[in-house]
Parts: sequence; structure tokens; C-alpha cells
Amino acid sequence: MSDGFSHVAGQASLPAHIHLPQFSGVFSTEETTRNLAADDFGRYVHRLPLAVLKPAAFDDVVRVVQFARQHGLKVAPRGQGHSTHGQAQVEAGIIVDTTSLNTIHALHADRVDVEAGALWSTVLRATLEQGLTPPVLPDYLDLSIGGTLAVGGVGGTSYRYGAIVDNVLELQVVTGEGKLETCSPNHQPELFAAVLAGLGQCGILVKATLRLIPAKRYARVFHLFYPNLAALIHDDATLITDGRFDYVQGYVLPTPHDEWSYVLEVVSFYTPPADQPDNAHLLSGLSFITGTEQIEEKSYFDFSNRVVTQAAVLKEKGVWHHPHPWFDVFVPASEVEHYVSVALTDLSPNDFGLLPILLSALNTSCFHSPLLRLPTEETVFAFDILRTVTPNPEGVAKAVAHNRQLFEHNRALGGTHYPISTIELSHADWERHFGQVWEQFLHAKRRFDPDNVLTLGQGIFPI
Ligand SMILES: Cc1cc2nc3c(=O)[nH]c(=O)nc-3n(C[C@H](O)[C@H](O)[C@H](O)COP(=O)(O)OP(=O)(O)OC[C@H]3O[C@@H](n4cnc5c(N)ncnc54)[C@H](O)[C@@H]3O)c2cc1C
Repeated sequence: MSDGFSHVAGQASLPAHIHLPQFSGVFSTEETTRNLAADDFGRYVHRLPLAVLKPAAFDDVVRVVQFARQHGLKVAPRGQGHSTHGQAQVEAGIIVDTTSLNTIHALHADRVDVEAGALWSTVLRATLEQGLTPPVLPDYLDLSIGGTLAVGGVGGTSYRYGAIVDNVLELQVVTGEGKLETCSPNHQPELFAAVLAGLGQCGILVKATLRLIPAKRYARVFHLFYPNLAALIHDDATLITDGRFDYVQGYVLPTPHDEWSYVLEVVSFYTPPADQPDNAHLLSGLSFITGTEQIEEKSYFDFSNRVVTQAAVLKEKGVWHHPHPWFDVFVPASEVEHYVSVALTDLSPNDFGLLPILLSALNTSCFHSPLLRLPTEETVFAFDILRTVTPNPEGVAKAVAHNRQLFEHNRALGGTHYPISTIELSHADWERHFGQVWEQFLHAKRRFDPDNVLTLGQGIFPI
């Protein structure tokens, strides 16, 4: 590795005396494969594994966990590696690359059974053929199902349906003990709760049954421009209360004049001719700058897949592969205006222009998964600084230090963080983050991963 960022020197190979189990998939100790698994979207943390397993069957995952347990090795599951802080990496351990587990097993009128390595785009294409959709999708569909369920999953319809993890009916999981288990709210509920938004600590998800609802065919997309932050926050909170739009997402965007602009992206899904949206009704009483609104029609799929299209442009420009020290938190509504204003004063609009700052209101009453930690107020705001920085270590270190400062300020206000961020955290920070569910999580870790085999790089549990 030669990009100048923090690398931890890795053990070069598996000890010679170790006998590998038989895998039906591919177990690779090849250097290029290991180097790829020592990287992620953040381009900041690099932990070199000893080997990468691409399982061909759930049994391969069982075998590799049992093998690792027997030999004192560590294992981390990896989906698409879109983490920003090494969450899916393991130093001198084994990566389970789930991209090979990507089959859709069954599609019913209200649910889909899908392997954990499948992409949301694959699932949505299949469900839309039957006129169905998951209630909540992430903004970027080229994430894996397993990687998203491991963090929680929040999207523009979350204000109505909660997190993606709140829409899961059943899971198949390989625990840290190396057992393949099925769990749901009624069967093995402790395992179910420990795996959803459980950051890969207690089990490797191999299959999920996701809830489906009828999909509309089109999306009428409104971009509404606001005069200031307060007006954006006000209307965002209004719209998640009255529910007149199906999708609500706020943005703070840089302008060419080194200023911020405040935008709401709100969407009405419809299937003509029955439920044509009434623009006048939808926009009434809102305080955007009249006349600046932009309205466009898209198919439901094209709207849902728009970030994949935008990413293709960034990939072509080369900036997709730059470091992304992202900052993602949930801020109590009572503090959000002041908190975001202060955060923006430390950021220059000139540093952005590629990916936005997100600011979206959510109703906490719709969120039910205990490990996805939200502030206790009725309304909270997801605040995400999706920075891209040029690849130099000083610039990245500065952004990471700023993230820590913003994290502490938000925490002091009663906020929580969304653990997809690039924030340096100690065991004590994690214990405080999980708060009243910490003991429950620790109990689950001891029960389902008694030898601390799984996903330790995040430093959640003391070893
Ligand atoms: C461009 C972009 C857009 C995004 N948009 C959204 C969004 O709209 N909403 C949102 O909520 N998030 C969003 N995210 C964040 C994203 O959901 C998380 O980073 C997610 O973890 C990435 O999925 P992945 O498949 O790349 O997971 P990885 O980065 O591969 O893994 C993430 C974590 O999950 C664990 N994990 C992976 N697979 C499994 C498994 N099968 N079983 C158990 N644990 C597993 C890993 O060990 C790791 O801890 C976005 C990220 C990017 C880069």
C-alpha cells in the first residue's frame, strides 16, 4: 500500500500447520484480493486480512467461522465495502465477501427471501416486476442487503416506515459460534434483535426475508429551494407530520458563490390515471421561494436508482475513489437549527460539490430496532456530511478530527451517531452510544460470539 494513510502491518499468511476446511466457494490468500479487502469507500483505514472467502453456500460461512474459532482467528463479513472507517475490515483475519451470496430465493406478494450479498438494485428490479417494493430503500442501491441491515438503513420514506431493519420479517444468520440459525421477532428474538443494526458483532447474515408493499409506477419529484436553514427545517418537520409526500429528504448544497443553498427533495409516488398528484395541494402552505421550484417525472425505479447514476459520473471523474471521511449523526429536533448552523460555519461550500450534506426529519415513533440508536425526542434529524477530500493524509486527518469535534457536540446535546461515519471511537464511547441497551448487546455478544470471532475492528467490545 502506498497512499500514505494509516496502515497496520498485517501477518502475511496463514500458519503452515493449519489445515483448511473444504469450501465449495473460493478461499483466496492472493495479495491483490487481500489488498482490495483492506480498503473501503472511506480510503482511510486499511487492515490487511490473511484471506478472503467468497462462499458458494451458507455451509462455507459456517465452516469458516468454526475454523476461525478453532484457531483463534478473527472474521469480518463484507458486502460492498461502502463503509468509511474500516467497519468491514479485519487485521490478520478472514474476510467473508458476501458478494457471491446474491440469489433471490422466493418472491411473494408481501415478502422477498434474498441472500445477504445481493444488491438493493437487484432486489428492486425483481420486486418491481411483480409491482412490489421494499417500503424503505437506501438512497444508493448498490449497497448489499447484509451491509445495510448491519447498520440500520435510513431513506427518504423512513419518516413513515422506520428504518430498513424495521421492515425485516426473518433472518438466517451464522453466529460467532459457527451455527446457522433462523430468527425472527417470534423465534430466537434475542438473536434477531442483536443482528439488526448489530454491526456484524453477533452473526453473519446470510439470508433475509424483507417486507414488501405495492409499488407505484412513477415519482413526481419536487425540488424546493428555501431562503434559509430555519425555513427548510420548519417545512421538513411539517411534512413528516402531515405525510402529504411519500418521500422527504432535505439537503444543504454548495452554490458556485461559496454559499449554502437549502433544498427539500419531496416526492409523490403515483400510478396514473387513478392517483395523479395535485401540485397545488401538495405545495400549499410551504415556505420555499415561490417560483424556484423544479418539478420532474421519473419512473419509480429511475428515481430510486438516481444515486447509482450520479455515482457513475463521479467514478468517471475519478473522485469516487478519493477519501470519504463521512460524518453521520441524528440530532434532536430542538437543537438542530443551532447545531447545524455551527457545523456549517466550520465547513466551506468550496470543499463540497460532489456529494451533498443531508438533513432530514424523522419520526422516532416509527423506529423499533433497539440497536439503531436515536435521540429520545419525537422528531430527530439525520444529518450527514458526505465529504470527499483530496487524497492527502493531512486533509483527511483534519476532517476526521473535525468529525470527532462535531460528534462530541451532538452527543452533549442528546444526539446519537449513525455508525457508518468516520469517527474515532473508544469502547467507552460505544458503551455510552448503546446506553440502556448496552447490557443487552453485551449479553448477546457473549452468547452468540463467545470467543470474540466476529468483526472486532470497530472496537465496540473490549476483547
Ligand atoms: C454512496 C453511499 C450512499 C449511501 N446511502 C445510504 C442511505 O441512503 N441510507 C443508509 O442508511 N446508508 C447509506 N449508506 C451507508 C451504507 O448503508 C452503509 O455504509 C452500509 O454498511 C454499506 O453497505 P455495504 O454492503 O457496502 O457494507 P460493508 O461496508 O461491506 O459492511 C458494513 C458493515 O456491515 C457488516 N456486514 C456486511 N455484510 C454483513 C452481513 N452479511 N452480515 C452481518 N454484517 C455484515 C460489515 O462487517 C460492516 O461492519 C450509503 C453509503 C454510500 C457509500
